[in-house]
Amino acid sequence: MNKIEHLGIAVKDLNASNQLFEKLMGVPPYKMEEVESEGVKTSFFKSGPNKIELLEATKPESAIAKYLEKKGEGIHHIAFAVDDLEAEIKRLESEEFVVLPGFPKNGADNKRVAFLHPKGTNGVLVELCQDIE
Ligand code: ZN
Repeated sequence: MNKIEHLGIAVKDLNASNQLFEKLMGVPPYKMEEVESEGVKTSFFKSGPNKIELLEATKPESAIAKYLEKKGEGIHHIAFAVDDLEAEIKRLESEEFVVLPGFPKNGADNKRVAFLHPKGTNGVLVELCQDIE
């Protein structure tokens, strides 16, 4: 596993949060993207080496909508960059980590992504992401 690629934050109102994070980080989002299959709209901020992803639900059955309902706004996942997603998944599965069903698949920001079940990671949803060449 390489560096922390980004932190994902679940928000109720992406436009309002974009303005807030623009003030906080001193830069506007460099990208906004809807991932239809996941039922989310995302925006990405970069300041120095740090990246933040904001996620808003676009449908009530999306994972983000359920998360907001249960836990409210806040840090939703931590994403690690990996060089070889398939190899890393094999390694982690051999260590008893559970990859969420349906992954890996293509996510936002030109990445191939997979998530580990938070039950096996101290309640933290972990994303693994590899740049799509
Ligand atoms: Zn993410």
